[in-house]
Amino acid sequence: MTEHPGRFHEENPALAKQTGTVIEVHAARCVVDAGADEPLECRYRGRLAQGARKTQSLLVIGDRVRVEIDGADAVVAEVLPRENELSRQASRGRGVRHVFAANLDHALVLAAVAEPPLRTGFVDRCLASARVFDIDPIIALNKVDLLDAASREDVDAVARVYREAGFPCDLVSVATGEGIAALAGRLRGRTTVLVGQSGVGKTSLLNRLLPGSERRTAQVSEATGKGMHTTTSSRLFPLEGGGFLADTPGVRAFALEAMDPLQIALAYPEFEPFVASCRFRPCTHVHEPTCAVRAAVEAGEIATWRYETYVRIVEATEPS
Ligand code: GDP
Ligand code: ZN
Repeated sequence: MTEHPGRFHEENPALAKQTGTVIEVHAARCVVDAGADEPLECRYRGRLAQGARKTQSLLVIGDRVRVEIDGADAVVAEVLPRENELSRQASRGRGVRHVFAANLDHALVLAAVAEPPLRTGFVDRCLASARVFDIDPIIALNKVDLLDAASREDVDAVARVYREAGFPCDLVSVATGEGIAALAGRLRGRTTVLVGQSGVGKTSLLNRLLPGSERRTAQVSEATGKGMHTTTSSRLFPLEGGGFLADTPGVRAFALEAMDPLQIALAYPEFEPFVASCRFRPCTHVHEPTCAVRAAVEAGEIATWRYETYVRIVEATEPS
């Protein structure tokens, strides 16, 4: 399924080569982190130069590339096969997908517990999309500093449901720093895309997690990113101690990915022990009689709110 440009010219064995991760993509050049202090500015050549302008997704952030270095000149010589892709159906052109990023280890689904209120429906939709894209999700519930004792218990209960279903779920406050070190530990050495609705604290978290020297840049990019005529307006930010965090190229991909009920159910591991007892197979657990998943919800073995978000996602993606 993954198409990538591969090699586009004969390699010159005399030149030095390095392998690195693409952290920025522009029309005529890209920036590659090859592990050195300073990232490499690289030119394109041949097919890649054409493709980067025309299809906008021949090279994306997260791509691993081999770079040929000739003095001060660095050229992308090869794009290595992708492990996964974050993509979205292009608005024009059936079957054409716009790719935002490649080789993502994690999707960090960030939600606020207050201001704006916690929307588990959005979190659960992101968990389902992450499953489709084959990216491991991590949930972080931010702004816990705003909770009083009673609402803190409610949020603890939500977090417990996610953890028991098998999803890492951290309670954090970017404002006070609570939980941030643990979260940073999960991201270390990995490539993570940050997803979340507006106002939940994505920019604040990004700034908190970046090394000091990067922080200002992040804000500038956030402010100017939208209007830039580059192949993608997003970046991978190198994290302290290794790994990368992508700002939000994928929020729309995560929110809009079309899925069928069976795919959605895969993001509800707590349904799994009951599915074999449903009368119909496959069962969507929505309309069918004698559904063991619905029986488990009624018996209190599956959290009602989780089942409700499931039904909402299924109904939202049903063909009309
Ligand atoms: P984004 O739209 O997801 O990028 O969210 P921002 O990072 O811009 O944050 C939105 C607002 O929430 C800003 O006013 C932040 O200062 C505030 N905010 C972010 N994190 C926290 C937190 O942990 N606690 C509180 N009380 N406010 C926060
Ligand atoms: Zn069922």
